[in-house]
Amino acid sequence: MSEVITRSNAAPKIGFVSLGCAKALTDSELILTQLSAEGYQTVKTLEGADLVIVNTCGFIDDAVKESLNAIGEALAENGKVIVTGCLGAQSAASGGLLVRQMHPSVLAVTGPHATQEVMDAVHAHLPKPHDPLIDLVPNAFGVAGIKLTPRHYAYIKISEGCNHRCTFCIIPSLRGDLLSRPIGAVLTEARALFEGGVKELLVISQDTSAYGVDVKYCTGFWDGKPIKTRLFELVSALGDLAGPYGAWVRLHYVYPYPSVDEILPLMASGKVLPYLDVPFQHSHPDVLRRMKRPANGEKNLERIERWRAACPDLALRSTFIAGFPGETEAEFSHLLDFMREAQIDHAGCFAYSAVAGAAANEQPGMLPIELREERRSRFMAVAEALSVAKLQQRVGTTLQVLVDAAPGLGKKGGVGRCYADAPEIDGAVKLLAPEKISKTLRVGEFTKARIVGTQGHDLLAQPF
Ligand code: SF4
Repeated sequence: MSEVITRSNAAPKIGFVSLGCAKALTDSELILTQLSAEGYQTVKTLEGADLVIVNTCGFIDDAVKESLNAIGEALAENGKVIVTGCLGAQSAASGGLLVRQMHPSVLAVTGPHATQEVMDAVHAHLPKPHDPLIDLVPNAFGVAGIKLTPRHYAYIKISEGCNHRCTFCIIPSLRGDLLSRPIGAVLTEARALFEGGVKELLVISQDTSAYGVDVKYCTGFWDGKPIKTRLFELVSALGDLAGPYGAWVRLHYVYPYPSVDEILPLMASGKVLPYLDVPFQHSHPDVLRRMKRPANGEKNLERIERWRAACPDLALRSTFIAGFPGETEAEFSHLLDFMREAQIDHAGCFAYSAVAGAAANEQPGMLPIELREERRSRFMAVAEALSVAKLQQRVGTTLQVLVDAAPGLGKKGGVGRCYADAPEIDGAVKLLAPEKISKTLRVGEFTKARIVGTQGHDLLAQPF
C-alpha cells in the first residue's frame, strides 16, 4: 500500500480544467485516460500541479471569455499551461491563433479532439514517468477510460465533426467533417461502461442521425458478427446491451430525418428511452433555409405527430434561436405557434449572438440586441408554461427514477431524474422521504416513485 502511495506521489501532477459542452467533455475524458495510462497524476486544482491543461470552448462570446479567463488564471497561478479545445482552433482578427494573441506565454495550443497533440505537448514539457508498474492504470470502466461524469451516467461520442454548414455555426471549421467511429468500438466502449456501473448512457455527436453516412453505412463487426454502421442498428444494439443491466440509453442531437422514424418503435418497446433531443433551432421554413439547417425541408409538426402516435410517452427536448438575422415578427410568431403545437417538453433558447467567423453575420437584417433578447424572453415564457403543463400531466403517474443524490441513504429524501430528464439540462424529480422505514435510496440506483406534485420545473415524488 505504502509503495503505491510513494509511487503516486512521485508521479508528475497535471491540473485539468474542462470547459464546454458534452462533446468537449468526452475529449477531456480521452486526454485524462491517456495521461492516467502513462502514469501522470491528474488533479482538478491548479495548486501544486506541475503543468495545467485547459480544455476550452469557443462557441459563443461568453464561452470565449470564460475560456480566456480560465487560461489567464492558470497562467497566473501555475505558469505552465497547455490549451486545447474549440477555442484553440480559433483565429484572431489579425490572423494567427486567438489564444496565442491573448496569452502568448502558453506552452502549446491545439484544437478540439486532439489527444495525441496534447500528449506530445505534455511529453515535451513534462517527461512521461517511466514506471511499467503504473502503465495502463486500471480504472472502473476498462477500455472506456476515465469519465468525468458521476459514475452512474456517461456520455458516449459516436462521431466527430459535421457535414452541415449551418450559417450560425463554426463547429465544422473547428472540428471538421463527419467522422463516424467504428460501430464495434462504440459498442465495446458501451459494454465496458455498463460493466463499470453506468446506468444511463447518453449518446452524443454533432449530428447523431447522420451516424455512418461518411462510411456509407459500411458493415462493421462486433462480437464476431457483422453489423451495419447505422443509427438504427447502433441504437438497437445499445438497447440490447443495456437490457441486462437495467440501464437507460438516451439519444441527443438527433436531426428529424425520415430515418429517425424507425427508432420510435425501439422507444415504444422500452429498448431505449422515449426521449429525443432534436435541435430544431426554428420552425419557419424561410428562417431554416437562411440558417442552412439540416432537414430544413421536413414537415416537422407532422413528423412529431407521427412520432407521438408511434410512442405516446415520447419526451422532446430542443434548442432554438430567437432573433436570427432577418427574422420578421411573422416568422417569430410561427415559431411560438410551433412550440405550442409541438408541445416540446424542454426547450432552451439563445438570443442570436454573432459568433466570429459565422456566415450568418454577413446576412442582411441583423436585429438590435434588445429585440433579440425580447423575443428570447417571449419564447421562454411560452416554453416554460408548456413545460409546467407537461409536468402537471405526470402527476398521479408512477415513474422509474434514477437517483442522483441521496444523503444519508435517502432517509430524508433525495433528487433523481425520470426518463424525460437528461442530466444537467432538463428538470429533476425531487424525492420525498420514503414512507417505509426499510426503504433506502442510493445514488446510481433506480427507484419507483409516485408523482405527487410539481415544484417549478421539477416533479415532486414519493419513492416506494
Ligand atoms: S448541424 Fe449545424 S449547428 Fe450542428 S454542428 Fe453541424 S453545422 Fe453546426
